[in-house]
Amino acid sequence: MPLSRFAFTACALLLLPPALAFADGLPDLGDVAQADLSPALEQRIGQSVLNEYRADPDFVDDAEIVGYVNRVGQKLASHIDDPSQSFQFFVLRDATLNAFAMPGGYIGVHTGLIAAAESESELAGVLAHEISHVTQRHLARAFAKQDRETVPMMVAMALAILAARNSAQAGMGGLAAVSAGNIQSQLNYSRAYEQEADRMGLQLLDRSGYDVRGMEGFFQRLLRFSSLYEGNAPGYLRTHPLTTDRIADMGNRIEHMQKRTLPDSLDLRLVQAKILATDGQGRDAVLNFQLQLREKTYRSELAAWYGLAIAQLRAFNFAGAAQALTEVRRCEGIHPKATSPMIETLAAQIQQKQGDVTGAEATLRAALQRWPQDRAVSYALIGLLQDANRHDAALRQVKYDQQYWPNDPQLYLLQVKSYTAQGKQLMQHKALAEAYALRGQWSPAIEQLTLAQKAPDGDFFEYSQVDARLRELKQKKADEAKDKF
Ligand SMILES: [Zn+2]
Repeated sequence: MPLSRFAFTACALLLLPPALAFADGLPDLGDVAQADLSPALEQRIGQSVLNEYRADPDFVDDAEIVGYVNRVGQKLASHIDDPSQSFQFFVLRDATLNAFAMPGGYIGVHTGLIAAAESESELAGVLAHEISHVTQRHLARAFAKQDRETVPMMVAMALAILAARNSAQAGMGGLAAVSAGNIQSQLNYSRAYEQEADRMGLQLLDRSGYDVRGMEGFFQRLLRFSSLYEGNAPGYLRTHPLTTDRIADMGNRIEHMQKRTLPDSLDLRLVQAKILATDGQGRDAVLNFQLQLREKTYRSELAAWYGLAIAQLRAFNFAGAAQALTEVRRCEGIHPKATSPMIETLAAQIQQKQGDVTGAEATLRAALQRWPQDRAVSYALIGLLQDANRHDAALRQVKYDQQYWPNDPQLYLLQVKSYTAQGKQLMQHKALAEAYALRGQWSPAIEQLTLAQKAPDGDFFEYSQVDARLRELKQKKADEAKDKF
């Protein structure tokens, strides 16, 4: 966590009036100290904290980085026993090695941790451990175990975020966000929970076809790091106490498990390069990758050229970016399997920057033919069409994608952008309302629909659609407010 997030915690708690937690028709806390949190409430708390994170400047909204972490995470999640438990993985730009599970299956990963992984199995090992904290309901059990004064305080804190968000008090929301990040870090897992998460995580890793040695390897490295930190352990170790016992236990189990030697993941290497290339100043990132390439210290030459190309784009050296991309293509030629949609979106970006919009569009459409399920490619195409002021075409692509991903808030936000550019007020507010609704933010969604009702440019059919949806969302909000837990 960046220092700021820690520094403000104590004051944030003092400054939040308790009444705020119960504002906006939220349920009172009831006898929460006595009972486990219900899965529905866990889900709401997790989602509202994630919504707060979204406003944080460190929140990573890069569809390729987040998409990759979700692919690895969902592959693991598809092997858990309870199919009703869903997971969402999100990424924070933070150099410390950390990952954490929030209530409801929301799992945060720091870019520092992704960058430090030697293999995809290592990253998967940490995610499997976090997933197991969720499936074993450690968070709910830890909540229930806390003394009675801490539990309502922590729940109140989470609800205060919900309230601050819904009452649209931007200032208060920002303040609440500061405390949100610390729910997890204050809730240090016990040693028994850690061991359980290790064991379940190992099994999950194995069932998902990863190399189980990845988990041990990563935790061993964490432990080695921690001895260098003296009382200032990396974030992960603060929240997940790690001991030599735990590593030994993992080692014993792994001995009796199947080992797999998997090919290096190009996607991981590209994501790591992108994280590095988009950090700090573009110019520094250029020097960093040039050094890697000169000294051959990279893990993947292709990924190093890829990183250099992104860094050059950020440094506004478009010719340099194109040159680096030529080297990426050369590496692709050497290894026929070394190919990824991430390379195509980069190629299109470079074409666009060099003024070849038609070429960029062709690159993205060809990539979509090859990887029709890749949302990042589709977002890139929509963005390109919007930049070229071709909003009808952009909206057609959004509509097409919505057949496959009807619950993707990002597609609604892209719609908002095009409708706004076209001056279509009713449609703009209606789309924004859906984006909010998909994130469980009923109050702002209702507000947007109310604005849509007042918009001057709808027809009879559109207004009645808005009215019906407004009634639906008001009902949802009322139902949730009645929820006892
Ligand atoms: Zn843990």
